[in-house]
Amino acid sequence: MTEGQPLIFNIHRLAMDDGPGLRSTVFFKGCPLSCDWCHNPEAMKTGAEVAFFPKLCLGCGACEKACPEGAIEPERAERLIRARCTGCGRCAEVCPSTALRLVGIYYPVQDLVSLLLRDRIYYQVSGGGVTFSGGEPTLHLDYLETVLATLRSEGIHAAIQTCGYFPVEAFVERILPLVDLVFFDLKLYNPEDHARLTGRDNSMIFDSFTRLTLEAREKIIPRIPLVPGRTATRDNLQALASFVNDHGYGRCDLKTYNPGGLGKRLVIGMSVPVDLPESLMDVKREDELREFFAQSLAGEEVCRAEYFFQQEGSSRRVDKRRKGEEPCRSIFIMR
Ligand code: SF4
Ligand code: SF4
Repeated sequence: MTEGQPLIFNIHRLAMDDGPGLRSTVFFKGCPLSCDWCHNPEAMKTGAEVAFFPKLCLGCGACEKACPEGAIEPERAERLIRARCTGCGRCAEVCPSTALRLVGIYYPVQDLVSLLLRDRIYYQVSGGGVTFSGGEPTLHLDYLETVLATLRSEGIHAAIQTCGYFPVEAFVERILPLVDLVFFDLKLYNPEDHARLTGRDNSMIFDSFTRLTLEAREKIIPRIPLVPGRTATRDNLQALASFVNDHGYGRCDLKTYNPGGLGKRLVIGMSVPVDLPESLMDVKREDELREFFAQSLAGEEVCRAEYFFQQEGSSRRVDKRRKGEEPCRSIFIMR
């Protein structure tokens, strides 16, 4: 691994909720935001790091001997002195029980493309493809552009999930022509709340959203994470519904709160926010918020797509309809 190379911490094969059909989702490391509710906290840092799972440790001491930086101290509950760790991964290589795992691997472009093309048949039969996520994939613009161009030459459908904090003109010129879908996250409408809870002002994100809407609205799917005590308030949802509506969107993906990031924070040495719940949001409360958002958005019917939105000729199911004989096509709010 060379300094500055883009790292990937997971490739999720046969993913069913990152776009249409069966997909491979590629998770990049590195994000310009620092949301404390993130369900992929291992994506925040750009560099490689090591996760430690204490219950798996056999106490063999191999990691301590292998570490060239003296960054392993067996007596410490968290095992690593992270300030000394360079992410070289030698400890994880010698650990016999996978108690230590390297997070972040560099794949040369052709290696990554070859891995992704293994599942081409699944993409073809399901109308799927590849989704780039993270972290923030656009942090690695050159690499991403090359991978996307190669996939396009192979006829593979491509989607990207983004926090929207990127140089928008570069995105429009280099990435937008190579993707079929852009899942664009909107989190908090109030700029002060956004800066306080994500570490960044939201003006660049909202400007990018407006620019992309003008450029290719048909490719954009706005998404809002429902985070208790953060984004999932009536004031915020109403303001974001109005913003999305003003941009001419009739659909928006409300993402169910995922507390899975809290446990992950511990194994990579991050503190855990005390005010975030460790369980999913109460179903009744979430239903109320979804109804409220739908009414604020357009006052139209609400559908829930179990897999993904319908396409012409697709056999994918759309169920849990609230009313009407046919699945409504106006608003899709996905779990
Ligand atoms: S990743 Fe490298 S530097 Fe960090 S603890 Fe393991 S062996 Fe030491
Ligand atoms: S190498 Fe793995 S099993 Fe052995 S002491 Fe280190 S963390 Fe524990």
